[in-house]
Amino acid sequence: MSDRLPGFSTLAVHAGAQPDPTTGARATPIYQTTSFVFNDADHAASLFGLQSFGNIYTRIGNPTNAVLEERVAALEGGTAALAVASGHAAQVVVMQQLLQPGDEFIAARKLYGGSINQFTHSFKSFGWNVVWADSDDIASFERAVTPRTKAIFIESIANPGGSITDIEAISTVARKAGVPLIVDNTLASPYLIRPIDHGADIVVHSLTKFLGGHGNSIGGVIVDAGTFDWSKAGKYPMLSEPRPEYHGIKLHETFGNFAFAIACRVLGLRDLGPALSPFNAFLILTGIETLPLRMQKHCDNAKAIAEFLSGHPAVSSVSYAGLSSDKYNQLARKYSPKGAGAVFTFSLKGGYDAGVSLVSNLKLFSHLANVGDTRSLVIHPASTTHSQLDDAAKVKSGAGPDVVRLSIGIEDKEDLIADLEQALSA
Ligand SMILES: *Cc1c(COP(=O)(O)O)cnc(C)c1O
Repeated sequence: MSDRLPGFSTLAVHAGAQPDPTTGARATPIYQTTSFVFNDADHAASLFGLQSFGNIYTRIGNPTNAVLEERVAALEGGTAALAVASGHAAQVVVMQQLLQPGDEFIAARKLYGGSINQFTHSFKSFGWNVVWADSDDIASFERAVTPRTKAIFIESIANPGGSITDIEAISTVARKAGVPLIVDNTLASPYLIRPIDHGADIVVHSLTKFLGGHGNSIGGVIVDAGTFDWSKAGKYPMLSEPRPEYHGIKLHETFGNFAFAIACRVLGLRDLGPALSPFNAFLILTGIETLPLRMQKHCDNAKAIAEFLSGHPAVSSVSYAGLSSDKYNQLARKYSPKGAGAVFTFSLKGGYDAGVSLVSNLKLFSHLANVGDTRSLVIHPASTTHSQLDDAAKVKSGAGPDVVRLSIGIEDKEDLIADLEQALSA
């Protein structure tokens, strides 16, 4: 064991966890407590001054959450991670460390609908300006760079169409611009793609989806790759300048290759407050133990269903990178060789009305706004998640009126195909 590096499935079960030192409990206990007793006054002072690490108050950290953080950092190959209350909270906390009012970040246009909203409206009200680029046109990222650009944000497998992003090409643009590349790895999970291996500096997840995997808990996580030099250009004062509330320490100078994760915790989580409940952390940890088994089944089922739909007369097109005819198949073979994920879209010849009717006629698929559940899910993005966009923007983000999005679960594929068959012919 000692001279071997543990494999992915071993890390998914064990990373970050030990039998509880007090009780011997083998499963990670839920430390359902708001606060932690200090050893003495000096201990308290050193914790508050960041001179030593330890538990203070669950808004800033909790031992159950710490196991989750260590586990996701290990699976993604990062130096450290921070668990937060949701995927969206992860995005706010990350951007708060990087952007000052008036700054910009570049984001791929193909994104989760909620992220499009968050970037366009809420972030704008903080003075953080999104500039859109097109992942199919790498030069569009280069053209979008200005002296105020502070980050580039992409999804590894992009919502809703399941397209695969050329992470390495966009990472080259980020390097040249001297800004970190942030990758939302929610739809791939580290089982399929590890963005840090391809040049990402920060990885974010909605733990709500495949990592938790059971549709029972909202959560998010930020992973620090430890790769970015925050002090080099003076562009990231939160990390490179003295912090008045911590006796003037400079976070990057003090914490080195995990300074970004520390900043997210001691500035972002402390001040913005989106702490993850330890109970949710426990459920998500339990989910992660079976991530490799689930992800493979999700992908195998999704491929079979994408093939079935491609041959169906009511279907005009299927957008699934795992199909050899798909535009993104080459990228899928490079970045995601074990499978192209389980979230994809297809278009119906009958347009908007056929989309609405299909979601009403499916029985085994649940009609709801989520992905990455053990259960199979369906939604018509144009009338729901992407309804706030105008028609042109809907089409551009892969959510045109005739498009239906599926998130394939881990049921028997024959039952899922039978359900689609009956609903398509209804
Ligand atoms: C769901 C999702 C989010 C937002 O996560 P929440 O946990 O719902 O806040 C962000 N990105 C992607 C790709 C998602 O699927």
